[in-house]
Amino acid sequence: MRCRMTISNTAYVACDVVCSLMLIGVLTLWLRSYYYRDYCWESGARSGWSMDSEKGELVFNRWQSQRDIVSPSSLTWLASPVHPGRELFKGVGYDHGASDIAASGTLVRASAWAIWWPHWLLVVLFAMGSASTSAIVFKKAKRARRRKMGCCSACGYDLRGSAGEVCPVCGKFRKPGE
Ligand SMILES: [Zn+2]
Repeated sequence: MRCRMTISNTAYVACDVVCSLMLIGVLTLWLRSYYYRDYCWESGARSGWSMDSEKGELVFNRWQSQRDIVSPSSLTWLASPVHPGRELFKGVGYDHGASDIAASGTLVRASAWAIWWPHWLLVVLFAMGSASTSAIVFKKAKRARRRKMGCCSACGYDLRGSAGEVCPVCGKFRKPGE
């Protein structure tokens, strides 16, 4: 008896839809990045993060300080450690740094780190995710159609009228009702 973990078709379709939407989103962001700078951030008194999309590159920054900073916007420069820091491979890199900076008249010890990667990397990942889940969804649909027609789900051989537990052509075990 063969035991397999089965993932429902709905899950694959959902994954496919999510990957495809993300692919469209990242492609749009990629093209936009050469004309506009997309930027979002959240800043508190002691920490903050930002996400930057510009010229084919995505940058994520995070900063933290040991004491409250009354005006976090004055720290914007700190959230961008020295670029290009250390490149790991093909435009993917990271950087981190710490410094004493004067914020609102007081000296504050603050640190920041950043990672960056090119848009195309996400495009490739989502394209691969979308393509592989699409392939699985189509394969599952093909097998279900064959089963419904009374054929072997693996090879398509007409099983109507033939008895036995396995398909005489490919040897696949028949599920009950197949
Ligand atoms: Zn077969």
